[in-house]
Amino acid sequence: MKTIGLLGGMSWESTASYYRLINEAVQSRLGGLHSAKICLYSVNFQEIEKLQHEGNWPETAKILSQAAKSVEAGGADFLMICTNTMHKVVPEIEAEISIPIFHIADATAQLLKQNHVAKVGLLGTRFTMAQDFYKGRLTEKFGIQVIVPDADEQDVIHDVIYNELCQGIISEQSKIQYLDIINQLHARGAEAVILGCTEISLLVQQSDTKVTLYDTTEIHANQGVEFALSDSGI
Ligand code: GLU
Repeated sequence: MKTIGLLGGMSWESTASYYRLINEAVQSRLGGLHSAKICLYSVNFQEIEKLQHEGNWPETAKILSQAAKSVEAGGADFLMICTNTMHKVVPEIEAEISIPIFHIADATAQLLKQNHVAKVGLLGTRFTMAQDFYKGRLTEKFGIQVIVPDADEQDVIHDVIYNELCQGIISEQSKIQYLDIINQLHARGAEAVILGCTEISLLVQQSDTKVTLYDTTEIHANQGVEFALSDSGI
């Protein structure tokens, strides 16, 4: 079994989901008392969030690269970054470490391709929905068309992530707003919707809607375990 490196704390609420999902997947695959070999570095999200909203991505890249080096030094065979948004600085992190990064958008896109989904809706932070580092990868590398909510709806999705979900607050009213936005993406032609923020599944689950959801936290965690238990490289 490979040792899984986790770069977490963004937020710790979703890192807790990763820890549980990864161990559940290993236990279900191997049985008995098997659990995952994990080396986790959990950052202080307050520092990261401030830099994000100031647009100081180079500084976030420095902090995460340092943390990634610690994970590598701790014995991880590969790295999983437990947030969609911070995949924005993957190239900078990759330049500083020698272990591979198991990319959350690639894991999700592979499943979408396998299920023949050609046009998908994307929910996430405003950074993930509005910028190109994530949508562009899905389109250019995998040929998947991506649509996002309009600007006002993006504000709702973004604010709920930072002001509620990352602080462990689950609100019924926010859930209704999210489900409404998911329905609108579906009405605009999305065959499925990516929960492209690792906290969204704390609020919305597949049982809440008929629209097919792709939960990046679950997909990343499960495929990370598949990779950890396989002989292959990335
Ligand atoms: N966990 C979130 C994501 O998947 C948002 C927190 C962050 O900005 O890293 O994008």
